[in-house]
Formats: sequence, structure tokens, C-alpha cells
Amino acid sequence: MYRELGISELVETFGTKIEEKLTNRFQKIDDVAEYNQLKVIKAMQDNKVNVSCFQSASGYGYDDVGRDTLEKVYASIFHTEDALVRPMIACGTHALNIALSANLRPGDELFSPVGKPYDTLEGVIGIRKEEGSLAEYGITYRQVDLLESGDFDYENIKKSIHEKTKMITIQRSKGYQTRPTLSVQKIGELISFIRTIKSDVIIMVDNCYGEFVENIEPSDVGADLVVGSLIKNPGGGLAPIGGYIAGKEKYVRACAYRLSAPGLGKEVGASLSVMQSFYQGLFLAPTVVASALKGAIYAANIYEALGFSVYPNGREDRFDIIQAVTLNSPERVIAFCKGIQAAAPVDSYVSPEPWPMPGYDSDVIMAAGAFVQGSSIELSADGPIKPPYNVYFQGGLTWPHAKFGILMSLEYLHRGGLVSI
Ligand SMILES: *Cc1c(COP(=O)(O)O)cnc(C)c1O
Repeated sequence: MYRELGISELVETFGTKIEEKLTNRFQKIDDVAEYNQLKVIKAMQDNKVNVSCFQSASGYGYDDVGRDTLEKVYASIFHTEDALVRPMIACGTHALNIALSANLRPGDELFSPVGKPYDTLEGVIGIRKEEGSLAEYGITYRQVDLLESGDFDYENIKKSIHEKTKMITIQRSKGYQTRPTLSVQKIGELISFIRTIKSDVIIMVDNCYGEFVENIEPSDVGADLVVGSLIKNPGGGLAPIGGYIAGKEKYVRACAYRLSAPGLGKEVGASLSVMQSFYQGLFLAPTVVASALKGAIYAANIYEALGFSVYPNGREDRFDIIQAVTLNSPERVIAFCKGIQAAAPVDSYVSPEPWPMPGYDSDVIMAAGAFVQGSSIELSADGPIKPPYNVYFQGGLTWPHAKFGILMSLEYLHRGGLVSI
């Protein structure tokens, strides 16, 4: 089949040699998936999920059983008092915007002890001037970067928390930065430290790309709110839209009031016809995340063996599903992305090209042949066309597809004479 799909014997053999060395790593990933699969099943059983949950309410959506039960399931999984899980939440940025704007008031300060947040959050907070940002409402922002070693700058964190500090945002994944992704344990250490300085500050974790990578979630180590996107990990590839916010009841209520209207909150918002995909996607999410993780580790080991810098490296523990590869030339970034695209189940025949995307300071190339538009739990890659010519790679609903995509990226590099195997 590999030959039929355009993978040469040379590339396949090279891949097989790399894969053989990863047996123990993959076993550990499967162990985490097994644990999380059981966690999800238990949450569904404890909340008595039944077929009526897949029926959809319309109109105002009062007593939408599927929606209300799913929110209890999320709360069980994250061990939180409450959760808001809605198709009305358009994406991760929207969910984070709701959590921040619902819980901050004019005069309050938001603080990030882990450096700059994800690009889109810059507009939300007002680090980058944007209409309607928190800054316009008189909410200030402060950040302390991680130390060069990747550790927390405890001294400056302590100095930055004062009486106006109302909320703290901690981004678990590195996103498109070069800092390390934070393990849940490290997030826990940071939260404990923050509590000794200001016990009642609201601590929110941007959990995007982190769900089900470990046995525990940031809400298990003291986060008041965890926030993420359903077209990433917890949607399991089936959720066609949506975001979630799980946490303390009073903070989640504030989010619901912000999402709909004060006084209405969680009571309204019909789930329409997406509930089955939300449940089924959540059910699949632990093993889907495992597939994506195997793909990331496989890619790291393949490209490391070929002499490229990879981040994280081939041996490091993983705390999110993103893999960066430094390819050192624009031609390689383009060939890599064309290979990923050519391996997709959807739009495999189109050829991605770099273009000047809004919000980026260089041309960007993106490869995605996804069932859900922009879904990055599905196999996808993108690279800004600027030094050091990194490509960021993530997702893979199944391990065989993630593997095939990576082999195809290598095949394209090989055909272009851009690597020597
Ligand atoms: C993807 C992501 C976001 C934003 O999510 P969108 O769904 O793209 O709006 C925020 N933070 C992190 C760490 C992310 O990975």
C-alpha cells in the first residue's frame, strides 16, 4: 500500500527503523490513553449518559438534557464544580475571551507568569491594540517571562502580584513559541506558589492542546478555570465546533452570563444537532490524542535522525501534541507541508502555497486536509516562511495516518533532493 500511495522503499525502510526504537515510548502513551479512556467512561456512567442526550433542543434551549448532561460529564472529567461546553463557543480564543472578560472588571489586572500568551490573545488582552480589547475597558495586563532555563521567575512573579491582580493566566502549551510546554505538575507548583502570595486570585489555565496528554489536568492541581477548544484534543476529531470552560461554579456562571446574558446564563443556548458528536468525540479523544502524540514523537525521531533540530527532542516527555522541526530553508518547509497535504483523506490533490496571511509578519504555508475546517487535532502542519524555517506539526486522528503523513513529508523532501537519507 505504501508503494501504491507513493512512499518509496527507501523512505519506508528508514521509517521502520525509527519506529522499532519507539516501542517503549508508545507503550507509555497507550497506558495514559487507557487511563483517560476509563476516566471518560466513568464520567459518562456517573452522569447517566443515555440516548436522549443525543436529541437536540431548539429555540431557547430550556432543559436541553444533552447539553446539561455533557457539561456535568466535563465537570466530572476535570474534577471541577461546573463546566460550560457549547457549540456557541466558536473557537479556543472565544472561550478564553469569555473566561477573561467574564471574570475581570475595570480596574482589575490580569497577570501572566509564563510570558507572552498565544497570538490571538494579544488582541483580546490589548497587548496588541484591538477594538474591544480588555485594555479598552480599563483592565491592565502584566507579564513575567520564564527564565532562560525554562523555570519560573519566582522572584519577579512575587513582585508582580498586588491588590489589583484579579486573575492569572497560565498557558500550558508553548503554542508557537520556543519555551517548554508546562507539565501539569509544574503548573501545580506555580499555582501553589501563587496561592501563598494571594490565595483568592482567579487562576485560569489555557489548556489548548494539553487535554488527555497526561493522567491529570490543571484543574487537578488547583486551577480555578481550564479552557480549551473542541476542534483540538477534547473534541476527538468529531466535534464540528465548540469550546469548553470548566472550573469553580461561580466563575463558570460568570462565563455563562457573559456568553448569553446576565440572568440567563446556562439556561439558554440550544445544542441543535451537535450533541452526539460532542459525546462521541469526547469518548474517542484519549486514543485520538495518543495517536497525535505518537505522530509527534515519530516525526521528532525521524527528523532528528536526519540531522535537523526538533523541538521537543525525540526523547523528551510530552505535555502537548505540537512538534516543531527546524528545516533551515523555505524549500524544505514547503516540501514538508506539501507532503502532509498529499497524505490527507480530504483535499489530498491540492497543493498548499505560502501566502501573506492576515496577522502574520511573513508568508505562511498551511497544510490541512481535514474533515472539520481548521481542526488541528487532525493531521496538519504550518510554517512561517522566515528563518529559522520552522514547521509546526500536530494532530493525527489515527496513528497510521500520522505515520503516513510524516513518511509523505519525508518523501517530498527526498524527491526534491532536500535531504539525504
Ligand atoms: C489554538 C490555541 C488557542 C486559540 O484557539 P483557536 O481555536 O485557534 O482560537 C489559544 N491558546 C493556545 C495555546 C492554542 O494552542
